[in-house]
Amino acid sequence: MSIKRLYLALTAITFFVLSISAQNMQSASSFSKRHNDLLAKQNRVKDQIRVQEAQKYAADLYEECEPEPDIYTEGWDSDLVNCYKDANVPNTKVIDVRHYVMPIKGNYVTSHYGYRPQFGRSHKGIDLRSAIGDTVYSAFSGRVRLTRFERGGYGFYVIVRHENGLETVYGHLSRFLVKPDQYVKAGQPIALSGNTGRSTGPHLHFETRFMGYAINPEAIFDFGNRCTHTDSYTFTKSTYTKARDYAPSKRYAAAKKSTEKSSEPATTSTRSSKKEQPQVTASTKKSTKESREKSRSTYQVQKGDNLEKIAARNNTTVAQLKKLNGMTSDKVVEGKVLKVK
Ligand SMILES: [Zn+2]
Repeated sequence: MSIKRLYLALTAITFFVLSISAQNMQSASSFSKRHNDLLAKQNRVKDQIRVQEAQKYAADLYEECEPEPDIYTEGWDSDLVNCYKDANVPNTKVIDVRHYVMPIKGNYVTSHYGYRPQFGRSHKGIDLRSAIGDTVYSAFSGRVRLTRFERGGYGFYVIVRHENGLETVYGHLSRFLVKPDQYVKAGQPIALSGNTGRSTGPHLHFETRFMGYAINPEAIFDFGNRCTHTDSYTFTKSTYTKARDYAPSKRYAAAKKSTEKSSEPATTSTRSSKKEQPQVTASTKKSTKESREKSRSTYQVQKGDNLEKIAARNNTTVAQLKKLNGMTSDKVVEGKVLKVK
């Protein structure tokens, strides 16, 4: 009788203890994620990049760095790298992308994947708007392959090789939160975003690669809705073979082709198609401004203008201007609109 009672008591205690520890475990992990985020925001990490170190690192690497080398073929540490011989790359591969976390909090794509005519080369990833110091998360679980600096391109960047076969690249960072060989979970903070390398403003450059082949991240992720399009992404080698050929003479044609192919997922939503317009370069801007000036028929008098200046600017003469506008003196009033044709 007493043994049975003791047994009941023990069962009750065990159940009680187990339920408490289960609760503790749950809260501990959710707190630890938030805690990691806070740590990242406060920049309290062991392996911070100090300014002097960064400069020395930059100086050391500068000699061996070509502008935007392909990070999977040039200057590579062979100890750390799978050589990605073409022969080993399967013709098709179904990549499981279910267990993802978006690499950054925002969802605004500022630059798409593909050929950029204004720079004469291909953009092998996408740019996501971010502020300096925003936490960058590993998109999937995996192991950090390397953390490096490239002055002419990626700036500080991290590459993580994932269990699903993909590798993700995070560029223009301001700080690393992980070290090479470190195992990271999907959603673990790995760096802080920044504006290092060839970058004109703070943003995260994000690439998804399969055995060296750059896949359009927007073919995998729907950044606007912060999710993946489907549970798996099917890599087809033939789709990417040409895009991978970076020989200068072939680069233009190959990259152009890859843009045409990759534009399909990007343009399916009107949200992103608008931003895909190539930027107007400085010279185009200038020539459109000039042609506008030549074609207009009226001119608003600016501060410091006189008839000679206005005539010169509008390809006409002082006499013609006076005649067109019925003027009797050479005096012009700022803000007044004159006929110039
Ligand atoms: Zn970019």
